[in-house]
Amino acid sequence: MTKSLAAFAKDKGVKYFMISFTDLFGGQRAKLVPAQAISDMEEDGAGFAGFATWLDMTPAHPDMLAVPDASSVIQLPWKPEVAWVAANPVMEGEDVAQAPRNVLRRLIDEAAAEGLHVKTGVEAEYFLLTPDGNALSDEFDTAEKPCYDQQAVMRRYDVVREICDYMLELGWGPYQNDHEDANGQFEMNWDFDDALVTADRHSFFKFMTKSVAEKHGFRATFMPKPVEGLTGNGAHVHISVWDAPGKKAKTNMFATDKGEGQTGELGLSEQGAHFLGGIMKHASAMAAITNPTVNSYKRINAPRTTSGATWAPNTVTWTGNNRTHMVRVPGPGRFELRLADGAANPYLLQAVVIAAGLSGIRSKADPGKRHDIDMYAEGHKVRGAPKLPLNMLDAIRTYDKDKELKAALGEEFSKAFIKLKTNEWNSYCAHFSQWEKDHTLDI
Ligand code: ADP
Ligand code: MG
Ligand code: MG
Ligand code: MG
Ligand code: MG
Repeated sequence: MTKSLAAFAKDKGVKYFMISFTDLFGGQRAKLVPAQAISDMEEDGAGFAGFATWLDMTPAHPDMLAVPDASSVIQLPWKPEVAWVAANPVMEGEDVAQAPRNVLRRLIDEAAAEGLHVKTGVEAEYFLLTPDGNALSDEFDTAEKPCYDQQAVMRRYDVVREICDYMLELGWGPYQNDHEDANGQFEMNWDFDDALVTADRHSFFKFMTKSVAEKHGFRATFMPKPVEGLTGNGAHVHISVWDAPGKKAKTNMFATDKGEGQTGELGLSEQGAHFLGGIMKHASAMAAITNPTVNSYKRINAPRTTSGATWAPNTVTWTGNNRTHMVRVPGPGRFELRLADGAANPYLLQAVVIAAGLSGIRSKADPGKRHDIDMYAEGHKVRGAPKLPLNMLDAIRTYDKDKELKAALGEEFSKAFIKLKTNEWNSYCAHFSQWEKDHTLDI
């Protein structure tokens, strides 16, 4: 059993708890609570005015209480007197249905009731910029093919090493760090785990990376396409399903050595293929969640980048070990969804994967034909595969039409999400840009 936060504070010398929840837009909100006051808050939660965040509430709503989940507590490695703890929003004794961590917890419970325990890893790519966000932090980072650039990664060693040291300290099992495919871009990988653990770590990784970058005088961004013409920030998800959660997991139910048919060939079991079938079926609607911003659609459907490839999909296709498709099966027992970007809400990202996958397993969905081609060069040859949404409104409307996915994520959640995201789209459309002038002034 997880020990109480009060005991944790005493043990570790923690002075403040950062009781944190994530709103619908992925924003992390927190109250700093002195350790002396944590015993009450641990039971009752910290109070918030929900309207002041992106949760689709009114100013008249009662207080929302964020009840900390003690099993998620992390002492900040860069400021050990503070501990971060993920919280579950509650109002008048009920879980707030649209709160992302609650949406994910509900789906995890649903999957568990069917004996399915989803384990995932994420690859949260980021750029290091100057503090004003207007330029890369490293003016010498200009290579045409910057991926794995040894010199450039050493120029940012102090930042990368510090974050990786912290992940080692926290026991996340980090195993590699590199300069990614865009100038100024990095990726750091740690071990996969239960979906909720991965969602909490994904959130914390963003917080930690931004904090460490700031400390070094830089600005870290996970924005999907922060620099025009360069590869964007993906948040690929690797997925497998096991017989039990945590360390009790023994059998990867996605793995098979049977070699039956086109899926077995890649080491993906029948159940794995059905899960994948659900992802393929709901992919265009999922994009509203995996690619949730206006800027997201400048990463998917993008023209070729200066490095030669976008590394992002534009069509709903899958394949073996080939990075030009939306889904890649890199080896036996798991697949990689390459759709999501750095703006995806860490909790909703896991939730939508589980929702789509469960729907696939329940309906024995067929993932369809595998395409073993270079999608960037030969994508036009694929007949019948849906194109991913072209913009945020296209994605919101596609999500709105997917009754099954909406219901799986929860009607209250879906209503709130669609409403707030439509408002965001309208705000974008109300913005006047130079492009309009350039294309319309002399008409
Ligand atoms: P790539 O860049 O080749 O897509 P990375 O090594 O950057 O892959 O990231 C792979 C991620 O997948 C890591 O988080 C890793 O822990 C995770 N992973 C590996 N095996 C599994 C599995 N069976 N189930 C879920 N995630 C996995
Ligand atoms: Mg007040
Ligand atoms: Mg990677
Ligand atoms: Mg990458
Ligand atoms: Mg990847």
